[in-house]
Amino acid sequence: DSLASTAVDVLVIGAGQSGLAVGYYLRRAGLSFTLLDEQPRPGGAWQHGWNSLQLFSPADASSLPGWLMPRPPDNHFPTRDAVIDYLTQYEARYALPVQRPVRVQDVRRSGPGFAVQTDAGTWQAQAVVCATGSWSQPYIPPYPGRELFAGAQLHSAHYREAAPFAGQRVLVVGGGNSGAQLLAEVSQVAHTTWVTEQEPRFLPDDVDGRVLFTQATQHYHAQTGAAPAPPPTLGDVVMVDSVKEARQRGALSSVRPFARFTDTGVVWADGREEAVDAVLWCTGFRPALPFLAGLGVLQPDGRVATTGTHATAAPGLWLVGYGQWTGFASATLIGVGRSARATVDEIRKFLAASVEAAG
Ligand code: FAD
Repeated sequence: DSLASTAVDVLVIGAGQSGLAVGYYLRRAGLSFTLLDEQPRPGGAWQHGWNSLQLFSPADASSLPGWLMPRPPDNHFPTRDAVIDYLTQYEARYALPVQRPVRVQDVRRSGPGFAVQTDAGTWQAQAVVCATGSWSQPYIPPYPGRELFAGAQLHSAHYREAAPFAGQRVLVVGGGNSGAQLLAEVSQVAHTTWVTEQEPRFLPDDVDGRVLFTQATQHYHAQTGAAPAPPPTLGDVVMVDSVKEARQRGALSSVRPFARFTDTGVVWADGREEAVDAVLWCTGFRPALPFLAGLGVLQPDGRVATTGTHATAAPGLWLVGYGQWTGFASATLIGVGRSARATVDEIRKFLAASVEAAG
């Protein structure tokens, strides 16, 4: 009976790269565990990446613990589909027990552990690891009059390709990597205006994900007192090929935000009105943790107070992969392994202590 209550030592919510990395170390530790994922297929958020999406780094600098991502034949940076293949194979290689599609709706205290309510029954677990990423919680900043605007609006979470924007007047909002990459692509077929809060900060051409990871590692060691602090971050936008090409075309200029929407477009800060067909929001995400509301640990920004990856106010609860607040570089393929290993070490000690307390 799929609706029966099932008991495990550790329940991992989410089986994207972060959940799989945690699963790898749980398997090595010999603990009983299950991963639940709401999507019908493996690959986490990568399944929703846009068609042209490529990694910032080569395959061997984009790998989870234990097994390197295979190098693409042309030795170039891996594509979206290569990452999905890798995660699919990784899950099978380590026989990680993923149940899908199972959507977690609520996590509550129950005895010494947790009751995890899903659309396929309730699980009991001593320890819970959240690894749900942020893809399902796209964030759009509050611009006045947005509900009036009759044109199209799309968040980068749902963008696939530029073709639907051909010939249109498009605002691309957001100065990070998604904004730069989608601007580069859409500006080939549409009249684009790039709206960013400040002048975008482009990284030097030779900085890729490897350099950024090295820098994150230096920050990590500096924080633990093992090394001096590295130089401050150089910028935000990685100059991938498509963004370099857009720079050559002169398509990377940007303007500061508009004041409000009208039904047909926007009004700029100087009062000038402009007609717009579509707005592409590249304005980021919030952690996908609504199911923690009942534990009372969610902050207004959607995060949870953590010590390392442990939820400070909730013994037995961990969060892996969301961003710097759950560990340096933890929202990357290469960085999440470190957070996952530290988390499983803590879980092992936590479970051993509970057994001792009970006995
Ligand atoms: P996800 O991949 O989102 O996986 C979480 C899983 O949990 C999903 O399958 C989701 O369906 C499931 N889930 C969510 N809520 C529930 C629930 N309530 N119940 C059950 N299941 C649930 N990183 C790199 O290392 N290199 C790069 O080059 C790179 N490029 C990027 C480019 C873009 C455009 C973006 C957006 C990100 C990029 N990243 C890159 C960052 C990072 O690797 C991804 O954000 C990554 O997908 C995060 O993995 P995750 O496992 O934490 O979350």
